[in-house]
Amino acid sequence: METIKRIISLLLALCLLAALCGCGAAKKDAPAEEPAEDTYNIITTETVKEPNPFERHEPAAASGSAKPGAEKEEPAAPQPEYEIPDGSVIPFDSTVGFTFGESLRDYTCTDVFLGDMTPYVKIRESGGLVYYGVTDSYGNFVEVSREITGKNRVVYLTFDDGPCGYTPRLLDTLAKYDAKATFFVIGVMGSLDICKRMVEEGHSVGAHSYSHDFRTCYSSVDAYFEDLQKLEDMISEQIGYETPLVRFPGGSSNAVAGRYCSGIMSVLREELPARGYQYFDWNVSSADGGGTEETSVVTDLVKKGISSNKVSVVLQHDIKLFSVKAVDEILRWGTANGYLFLPLNVDSTPAHHGARN
Ligand code: ZN
Repeated sequence: METIKRIISLLLALCLLAALCGCGAAKKDAPAEEPAEDTYNIITTETVKEPNPFERHEPAAASGSAKPGAEKEEPAAPQPEYEIPDGSVIPFDSTVGFTFGESLRDYTCTDVFLGDMTPYVKIRESGGLVYYGVTDSYGNFVEVSREITGKNRVVYLTFDDGPCGYTPRLLDTLAKYDAKATFFVIGVMGSLDICKRMVEEGHSVGAHSYSHDFRTCYSSVDAYFEDLQKLEDMISEQIGYETPLVRFPGGSSNAVAGRYCSGIMSVLREELPARGYQYFDWNVSSADGGGTEETSVVTDLVKKGISSNKVSVVLQHDIKLFSVKAVDEILRWGTANGYLFLPLNVDSTPAHHGARN
């Protein structure tokens, strides 16, 4: 048994050496494979130059059996695999192994040398796939993807028009469920100090508008970007960079902007990506912008909405207390049912609306 363990360790060390010598870099340019039907596939393995975030230590002691869902029905085996002590299956060409259950939230990540790395996994969604990435102690970055199916879904909760006095409470609720969200802030509310906390806790900050005054920000294309830059300067002061995430006041399909400048939304929809921004609309409305003032209505609309999309971008407003109050139940229900609540990034599904102006 000891001899077998030694041979496996030697093979893994050789793989690692090969990765450090550039094999990983070569893979970077390989085209992404189609996601495996059942569990996962490695899409990228590359060496990165970021500082090593992990302390090297001895492998975790063998204990217990594999998590439920680790062994999916009839896994395709395109390459040799090793059994590592906790029962997880790792691909031949990596020291990092992921196991997944049915829910997108149900995953573990184990490194042969470093043990459990689940807490270090960073998750993102792009184009209907969820990517789980982790950097090992040698600086190697491994990312695997899962396809989002009808049963496992991604939700982007977004909150417009803040921050305000309700925002800290909302952040507390999100923390309680380890859920991430996106805040499309405005400038005229005053201090954006809380943006620091948002970013520290893993949320995204997006730019909504400095003035949120349609007459001002939609009076011309130049006026729009002047208003946006004013807000970006405020955001940058707090978080150290300008956010590429933008939500138009009224959304990209709003017809009101045309009253102040005909055709402006069509121009801005082209102009924002050209300037390095990504704009986000939504595909789930909570109706808290005027349709209701009832917490229960918001809760029901959001639950119903996210049940019918594979990827949901939910619109709420953190300046509405009744809407903020709905978030606890949305997250309780959502996390219990395996939904993954992620922060938006530039590659996320943008839920763009159709053009109306
Ligand atoms: Zn707004």
